Amino acid sequence: MQRLDKIILGSERHQRIRLRQWLIACVATAGCALFFAGGVFLGWMSRESLLILGVIEAIGQVLIYAALRSGFSLRFAVPALTEWQTVLAIVAVDYAYMSAGSARHLALCPLLLVFTFSAFSLPWQRIARLTIFALASFLVSIAVMEWQRAPATGWSLDSPEMLDDISALGMLLIVLPVISYVASRLSRLRSNLHEQRVALASALEEVQRLAAYDELTGLANRRHAQDRLAQEQVRAERSGTIFSVALIDLDHFKEINDTLGHAGGDRVLRAFADMVRGLLRGSDMVARWGGEEFLVLMPDSAGGDALATVDRLLRGVRGLRAAEGQPFSFSAGVTQYRRGEGFMETVARADQQMYAAKHAGRNGVCLA
Ligand code: GH3
Ligand code: MG
Ligand code: MG
Repeated sequence: MQRLDKIILGSERHQRIRLRQWLIACVATAGCALFFAGGVFLGWMSRESLLILGVIEAIGQVLIYAALRSGFSLRFAVPALTEWQTVLAIVAVDYAYMSAGSARHLALCPLLLVFTFSAFSLPWQRIARLTIFALASFLVSIAVMEWQRAPATGWSLDSPEMLDDISALGMLLIVLPVISYVASRLSRLRSNLHEQRVALASALEEVQRLAAYDELTGLANRRHAQDRLAQEQVRAERSGTIFSVALIDLDHFKEINDTLGHAGGDRVLRAFADMVRGLLRGSDMVARWGGEEFLVLMPDSAGGDALATVDRLLRGVRGLRAAEGQPFSFSAGVTQYRRGEGFMETVARADQQMYAAKHAGRNGVCLA
């Protein structure tokens, strides 16, 4: 059963929704066909007309199914092909009206169903166009009928059939525009809902970004870094992997601020962040831990490897100058995670080593 479902509807979610809508239309069409078959039995419809109606619907529905299932319909603005399904239904209703004799007014009922469907996927302009098409094609149908009835006498409003047809047209003129208006409103509500959902999703993305990243440097913030450290700790405890942490504090940053002003200090922080990002491996992570303090997480790195990485950063920072002639450096502490401890203990050890580097004269790194 599941295999059959997959063969008929496919597996892509949107395509399945479209094909399910098509299936509902087919069930409604089959119901109408049954009704007209009853008409053949009761004598108000000819076998030949039923056959023609069946052929029109069958060819139309098969073509629509093929276009939906093959993905051909994706090149249209409304890939559900609701517009074409509506046109097919309008043509079928017109033909049924012309062939259903005394029960022809009943043949108009499916039109109301058709326009309710349009609310699911058509914008209001298309619904309005289809309404005009339905009214115009019905007008042509009753003109053709009148022409078939009295080819010799020409147009006459006196015949009871003609009066019946004009009454039906009058009712359609009232009912169809109202139904179309309601369908358009529903369609507008549906598209508003869709737009709100898209806006909400992008707002959520922005909130997640703000919650995880530092506004000034674009680096991960302290909270995000703590999440990553916790993940690494779990990995290390479970699979015995190793990781190291470096804590970096920029030297004499107060002086840099005094010389360049706070905005100039911000520029230096951004330049430093860009440099570090460019020098680390893809699997490493650098976060802004505090004001001018940064934390580097190096997965799968022992203390010695981490030391070499921080040395590379120290060489990189020598190329940066806070201002003309003003040296710019940092002091760092490096340590490897020790099994059984919490990651904040690792960070605290790196912090102690960073202070040791400060006391040793700054512009250097100490390994625990
Ligand atoms: P040390 O070498 O001992 O680390 O000296 P320091 O001047 O860097 O000392 P400290 O760490 O106490 O001072 C850090 C300074 O960094 C103080 C603070 O005003 C500045 N700072 C912190 N956050 C920012 C920021 O976002 N932008 C700017 N421009 N300055 C900041
Ligand atoms: Mg500091
Ligand atoms: Mg400092």
